Amino acid sequence: MMSTGPVSLKVIALGEYGVGKTSLFYQFVHDKFDNRFLSIRDDCVKKEVVVDGRIVILEIIDSSGGFDIYRSLLRLYCNEVDVCILVYDVTSPESFVKLEYWRDEFLRLGDPQVPKHFPFFVIGNKIDLEELRAVSARKAEEWCESKGNTEHFEISAKDNMIVKQVFLDIIRTVLRRKAIESDDGQQVVKIQADVKPNRTMCWS
Ligand code: GDP
Ligand code: MG
Repeated sequence: MMSTGPVSLKVIALGEYGVGKTSLFYQFVHDKFDNRFLSIRDDCVKKEVVVDGRIVILEIIDSSGGFDIYRSLLRLYCNEVDVCILVYDVTSPESFVKLEYWRDEFLRLGDPQVPKHFPFFVIGNKIDLEELRAVSARKAEEWCESKGNTEHFEISAKDNMIVKQVFLDIIRTVLRRKAIESDDGQQVVKIQADVKPNRTMCWS
C-alpha cells in the first residue's frame, strides 16, 4: 500500500547575522517581506505544504546567528534536522567566507552519521541589490561543488525571487533522501517517480 500520510521535515538555516535568514522564512511562510522585526533569537515556524500530492509539514528552525547561550539549543536542533540551509548575502564577501565556518559548525553540532552524504543548500540572498554584488555566482558554485551534496541558489527574500522554488527543491531532495533511507523506501520512491518536472505546485 502506498504511504500517503503527512511527512515532517526539519530544516535549519545558518549563516551570519543580517544575511536575511528570517526574511527568507518570513517570505516563504507569510508571502511577504517585512523588515520591521528584529531577529535576535532562535525561532521555529511550521508550514504545511502539499508537494506532488504529499502533505509535508515543514519545521523551520531559524537560528539567530549562534549566540553562545543558544549553543545547546542549536546542538539539539542540528541533531534532528533533515537538511541544512547555509545563507549568505551576495553583497557581503565576509558572509560568504563564513559559510565554511557555519558548515563546520553544523557538522560538529549535528554530527550526522555520514557527513559527506548530508544535504546542504547554499543560498545567496539579496540579488535585488545586483549593483552591490560582491560574490559571483560562479565562485559560490565552485565552493558548493568542492563540498559535494550541496546545491546553490541565488534569491531575493525581498522581491520574492524563487523563494518557493528553492523550498520545493529542498523538500523534494529530502523526500528522495528519506525514501532511500526508509525501510520501505520503494513505496516512497514511487511517489517521487510520479513527479513531472513542470508540475504546478500546490502550496497551502
Ligand atoms: P538574519 O539576521 O539573517 O535573520 O537577517 P534578517 O532577515 O533579519 O535581515 C537582515 C536585513 O537584511 C534586514 O534589514 C532585511 O530587511 C534585509 N534583507 C533581508 N533579505 C533581503 C533581500 O532579499 N534584499 C534586501 N535588499 N534586503 C534584505
Ligand atoms: Mg534572523
